[in-house]
Amino acid sequence: MNTDQPEDPQRRRIREQLEAILIRSEKATSWHDEAARLRGLVNHEGYVPVRTKLAGEDLDFLSGARDELLMFSELGLRLLDLHQPRDAGGITSDAAHPILRCRSCMWRWPCPTFRAMSESFGSTCESILPETA
Ligand SMILES: [Zn+2]
Repeated sequence: MNTDQPEDPQRRRIREQLEAILIRSEKATSWHDEAARLRGLVNHEGYVPVRTKLAGEDLDFLSGARDELLMFSELGLRLLDLHQPRDAGGITSDAAHPILRCRSCMWRWPCPTFRAMSESFGSTCESILPETA
């Protein structure tokens, strides 16, 4: 940021909250490989009895993970609803490919917000989604 204005308190609070989530998540143990191994051990009741050692950082992460992931999912869906392309109208030399603009921020499509979401989610989603049969 390159401004002489002090950061808005609400903006600063949101930034601090997001940074805390980021740090908490980075410190926690990843369950990606272990979850794949445990999936094969689901019993007839639909559960896997697990004995494990959890570090304090893992408990910090797990205590808020569900609520934080719900919050991020809702945020993502709201941003996706806000930032959609629409025909910019006007005269174009290429009728088959009209110029599109974001209906929310009016940047040329794809807008920076959609590009940021696409860069954040597009490449990682395939690796974290469970395989479908
Ligand atoms: Zn936009």
